Amino acid sequence: MSDLRCPACGASKIRLAHRKSLSDVLLSGLTIYPFRCQLCADRFRTFLGRRTPNPRRSFERVEVSFPVWFKPRRSTYPDEMGQEGVIVNLSIRGCRIRSSLPIAVGTRLELEFQYSDGSFPITIEEAVVRSSTDGAIGLRFTQLRRSDERRIRRIVDVWLSELLPSSR
Ligand SMILES: [Zn+2]
Repeated sequence: MSDLRCPACGASKIRLAHRKSLSDVLLSGLTIYPFRCQLCADRFRTFLGRRTPNPRRSFERVEVSFPVWFKPRRSTYPDEMGQEGVIVNLSIRGCRIRSSLPIAVGTRLELEFQYSDGSFPITIEEAVVRSSTDGAIGLRFTQLRRSDERRIRRIVDVWLSELLPSSR
């Protein structure tokens, strides 16, 4: 298993992907499963040789704690104050923010976060709110500059364990 690598970028940080198409389901009978590279998002299928449950998400989020500043993307009030929160988990496709402010699902936000003291903040140009419960907002990134995406990829690469979890 540890030899499995992403065919597109060669990274070993890969995870089982969510099975959704008919061919995914049919091939899973042969334990040929879809995988997602956690660093470049490439989706590919490969033979695993043992059965595993269908994972709910295709991108594993690494647990972090980064201060974040966010506001509605196209705010009708240019001077509208941003809100502060904490990013508690992160993948190259999305994140979860702990914040006391409830935000409607579907709201488009822009955000900036700092991942270490003295680092230049990473900007997410646009993220859509997918869930908002119990003081936490789930976001999916929809617009991201390449340079910022590269920096998020590096964070995920550092924080994500090498091993493919056996029971997910
Ligand atoms: Zn890759």
